Amino acid sequence: MYTVHTISQASAFLDSARARGQQVGFVPTMGFLHAGHQSLMRRAVSECDVVVATIFVNPLQFAPNEDLAAYPRDFGADSELAAEAGVSILLAPSIDEMYPDAVVTSVRVSGLSDGLESGARPTHFEGVATVVAKLFNVVGPCRAYFGEKDYQQLAVIRRMVSDLSFNIQVVGCPIVREVDGLAMSSRNTYLEAPDREAATCLRRALDAGMALLDAGERSVVAIEAAMSAVVEAEALATLDYVAVRHADTLQTIAQVEGDARLLVAAKVGPSRLIDNCAFSGK
Ligand code: AMP
Repeated sequence: MYTVHTISQASAFLDSARARGQQVGFVPTMGFLHAGHQSLMRRAVSECDVVVATIFVNPLQFAPNEDLAAYPRDFGADSELAAEAGVSILLAPSIDEMYPDAVVTSVRVSGLSDGLESGARPTHFEGVATVVAKLFNVVGPCRAYFGEKDYQQLAVIRRMVSDLSFNIQVVGCPIVREVDGLAMSSRNTYLEAPDREAATCLRRALDAGMALLDAGERSVVAIEAAMSAVVEAEALATLDYVAVRHADTLQTIAQVEGDARLLVAAKVGPSRLIDNCAFSGK
């Protein structure tokens, strides 16, 4: 694996791959890699000739009260995991390399960026869309792999790519979980027992919602109440939101009539955790 820290080195490598007719795959991350990130990398490796992964903890998507400084980092371990997954080139730019000047340009995907995560993190998706737009320009035409773990983010990116005609195919990838159902996340590293155990309440809330749906319940109020009850019964967790939304638009719905997405966010100990799952209405 070729490791670079400058945009120009990465762009040159990827431009010459495309000039040879190779398909480029792209996996953007904030590092502290785990099996969830590796699943995106492996999928990209299986579908593309050359795969670039980026590691960049993007300050634009953190509010001043969030964990930017504390965000876990381990470049040595990340390099090993990326190489093991078959990544061809790892780009790890510094903040100065990415943002040599104060950033005064931003990309805002309205509608999809409102509600859910934006309740607690109102400026988050603007920071995400802006850095991803920049990275798309650095990487160039490619297939870009994103996890469904961050489902609202995936919807925001898909819409940005469509609205702004980026020459990018966005590929959504399934959530990778720990054996007890907790969705893998770099932020799980903040969890120590007993918070680690309590964190399974997100998955359990989704299961409760799915059980009602499987039993024929279609009222969103009823399903959300059952999901909330699971998180609220967990003394170490503080519920942020539960939601049952239209699967593609993430619009609010009163009844589940087609494909829907169940989403949950809660604070457990020092970590704010999110999770979601799909209900197929077919
Ligand atoms: P992050 O480093 O948290 O910004 O995540 C980088 C990419 O990995 C995003 O597209 C995430 O959705 C994806 N990702 C993170 N955790 C998981 C997981 N448990 N399963 C699948 N994808 C994930």
